[in-house]
Amino acid sequence: MAHVELNDLVKEFDDVTAVDGVSLDIPDESFTVLVGPSGCGKTTTLRLIAGLERATDGEIRIGDEVVNDQRAYERDIAMVFQNYALYPHKTVRENMRFGLEQHDTPEDTITQRVTEAAELLQINDLLDRRPSELSGGQQQRVALGRAIVRDPAVFLMDEPLSNLDAKLRVQMRAELNKLHEELSTTTVYVTHDQVEAMTLADQIAVMDDGQIQQVGEPTYVYTNPRNMFVAGFLGSPSMNFIEGTLEESGGKFELNLGTDTHDVPDEFIDQLEGHLGERVVLGIRPENIALNQDGVPSNVHPATVQVVEPQGEKTVLELNLDTGETIKAAVDPDTTVEMGDSVNLRFDRDSLQYFDPKTGRSLTHEPKPERKAAV
Ligand code: ATP
Repeated sequence: MAHVELNDLVKEFDDVTAVDGVSLDIPDESFTVLVGPSGCGKTTTLRLIAGLERATDGEIRIGDEVVNDQRAYERDIAMVFQNYALYPHKTVRENMRFGLEQHDTPEDTITQRVTEAAELLQINDLLDRRPSELSGGQQQRVALGRAIVRDPAVFLMDEPLSNLDAKLRVQMRAELNKLHEELSTTTVYVTHDQVEAMTLADQIAVMDDGQIQQVGEPTYVYTNPRNMFVAGFLGSPSMNFIEGTLEESGGKFELNLGTDTHDVPDEFIDQLEGHLGERVVLGIRPENIALNQDGVPSNVHPATVQVVEPQGEKTVLELNLDTGETIKAAVDPDTTVEMGDSVNLRFDRDSLQYFDPKTGRSLTHEPKPERKAAV
């Protein structure tokens, strides 16, 4: 096993800079997830680590070695792809053996590793079938098995679950978690699915436009986003952003929203006082909005219910604030509201975030020693 380190990594394709100065520390035995929207450079970063692309600039270390000049097969990694990439004419057993045979592994080691991996993945019964005789979930297990038998220092996984249906994806996600607990192999996993990222990762790196926006433990990044991009990307429905002008009134700070006012809790005064008179964005997650909290003196905002969307474990409401802005709240499924109802919203004061709309940066982000900040 090994840690992986990316230092100022750059990859240019003609006029596209796919990876734009990425620095990231991937600790030994960690499960690190690169997450971000389509085209943000996740796959290219993974392919650079794999040796399938050559870096334009920067350094890639696996263990103590700089591997920039090593070919893919010389790097101690195994890759799992979205499309499984199994050999159609080979059986499951032959698919799993193939990589080891290429590396001249002794026969008894091959047999032992294939047997162990097949047991771990519960595909012992499928060893003599061909990929076309397997379901998508089984094919993905074989692809994982082929990586596991290699016993590499690092697993690289590129959206391995995205071809599976929703139910199977959730099941395989749990299995990947278990597998990682069992094997502890350093894993770098690429996905655009933020739920997958949050549930699998012990370290998440949120990417946008070829750059890492924030790195850290998933819950920390979720509750302490460094900027509006990260705040908006993680979470479904997304964080609400409400813009106003920051003003002072009788020693208190408030955000003038036009026809409504948001009282800023006193604990943010130090962080926000340099922005008095400026436009500031309030960020509040849908799950941190409560309805009809009578008798609460501050942070009650009148709104009208536009859409009621029951989702089982929660109900998502689309609400029009008196200011004209539309926001979403995720409330208890027992909540009885209908379209057109007037409600009062209370924003949980412990969950408020404030951002600078010019730069997108959080004004209230609480820095925590991260494994390695990239920006
Ligand atoms: P997705 O989730 O859609 O796979 P991604 O975040 O993995 O996206 P990349 O595939 O790394 O993104 O692509 C990053 C950028 O680099 C994109 O603009 C893409 O078009 C470009 N790119 C990737 N590979 C190549 C290539 N071989 N030649 C030219 N441009 C490329």
